[in-house]
Amino acid sequence: MSATELIARRSTTAAERSLCGWGRTASSRCRVFRPRGAQDVVEALASEARTRNGVIARGAGRSYGDAAQNGGGCVLDMTGLDRIVSIDPARRLITAQAGATVAQLMARLAAHGLTLPVVPGTRHVTLAGAIASDIHGKNHHRDGGFARHVASITLCTPTGETLELSPETDADLFYATLGGMGLTGVVLEATLHACELPSPWVAADVDRTDGLAQTLELMSGEEHHRYSVAWLDLLAEGSSMGRAIVSRADPLAADGVTPRARGRRDAGSAYPGTLSRRPAFDVPRGFPAALLRPASVRAFNALYWRLTPRRERGRQLALAPYFFPLDALGEWNRLYGPAGLIQYQFVIPSGQEVTLERCFELIRVRRLPVYLAVFKRFGAAFGGPLSFPLEGWTLAVDLPAAAPGLHAALDELDEVVAGCGGRVYLSKDSRLRREPLGAMYPQIDRFHAQRARVDPQGVLRSDLGSRLGLCGAAA
Ligand SMILES: Cc1cc2nc3c(=O)[nH]c(=O)nc-3n(C[C@H](O)[C@H](O)[C@H](O)COP(=O)(O)OP(=O)(O)OC[C@H]3O[C@@H](n4cnc5c(N)ncnc54)[C@H](O)[C@@H]3O)c2cc1C
Repeated sequence: MSATELIARRSTTAAERSLCGWGRTASSRCRVFRPRGAQDVVEALASEARTRNGVIARGAGRSYGDAAQNGGGCVLDMTGLDRIVSIDPARRLITAQAGATVAQLMARLAAHGLTLPVVPGTRHVTLAGAIASDIHGKNHHRDGGFARHVASITLCTPTGETLELSPETDADLFYATLGGMGLTGVVLEATLHACELPSPWVAADVDRTDGLAQTLELMSGEEHHRYSVAWLDLLAEGSSMGRAIVSRADPLAADGVTPRARGRRDAGSAYPGTLSRRPAFDVPRGFPAALLRPASVRAFNALYWRLTPRRERGRQLALAPYFFPLDALGEWNRLYGPAGLIQYQFVIPSGQEVTLERCFELIRVRRLPVYLAVFKRFGAAFGGPLSFPLEGWTLAVDLPAAAPGLHAALDELDEVVAGCGGRVYLSKDSRLRREPLGAMYPQIDRFHAQRARVDPQGVLRSDLGSRLGLCGAAA
């Protein structure tokens, strides 16, 4: 088929749409094409190489910012390629197509007593989205990020090649793709190492702290648990700012689950077959943003904090509510109204705790309306030049995008974070400027070298990549 015929055929199936990330900010008009197989992807890349408008793959669109869109160009919606290709229980390996979701993978693995070693805070992301962001979970300090568990990737590049990548075949391109934000090629399928699932339950130790100093002290101790995360109240005033609910948990053996836990209302969500269910309630379109204000969130936080016991040990929790609490409410991003939300997530290296405290102080002094704050520890860095996690402390804060002074305050935070060797998470980003990027990702030249190899014409392009100068020739 000639290039003209290819473009003509695809233009009849591509639809022009406005796309944005989960934060519902920074939308752009894109031509969206939904491949039905690998050949469609190969042809789409070939024809976009000729139009020069660029192309980027998109998964479930759960990155918060503008990583999975390409204003004025093409977007490949990969959710149609969602088959689970094979499971090898003896070797604990699963192979699936790019668009299979974490929920699908977990549900299928559970039938073999297995699960994914790393999951994010929502089960609605795709396999390739997880690879492109090198996502992390509550167990990064123990098990690393997603990248550590990927055995191989099938990658389609704009030069027309379909490559089987692994650390053995092509380590440089393999690692550049893990965390590479879709800019090294289109992932068609991948093979992952799974891990044992003793039962779909965890046993959690929960502690409530009274302020930031106590929270940091508790989180800084030696961590023996597999999962560890803290919910922080950053709207509390005075010395209560930074009070937290720290939850540390371990997988629970099947024979350890008590009848009391099995009898609880949410016990049904322990069964992996329910992971693909829609939530019972969706926030409606046009939800009035005025209902979500600092005063109402502050009151909610205070109530939540007060209702949590000061110290609880071995609380048995079903898998889905523990790992994916936000999935209980459908379309919750609409709570922020038409202006949307910004999730700002950064990591500060271990040993730079003074700078971490400076970041908290900046948030307080600039009176940033942090409606949700999640604090975790990361273990050693692993993965590619654009992978986010590095050993240290990570804070993710949800902020209404329309808050006055927000962008100037975040620019200030960027400088502080970059200045101590920290970085912001590109999967959550829609606003970072180019200047601090090099300090945040000091191995960025390794990334550019791989792009020059597989995409010399700059065909792979996203709004995030163009904004940050990641798209090489066509940027
Ligand atoms: C409620 C919520 C909680 C979250 N919690 C966490 C968390 O705990 N930890 C964490 O790390 N992240 C977390 N995230 C972020 C999320 O895990 C990542 O942004 C993830 O990449 C989203 O996957 P997706 O399938 O929606 O991909 P998209 O958002 O559609 O795309 C993300 C990136 O993947 C690329 N991509 C998608 N498909 C392909 C493909 N086939 N080939 C090549 N590149 C591709 C895109 O180009 C883009 O750069 C959370 C997000 C939400 C909404």
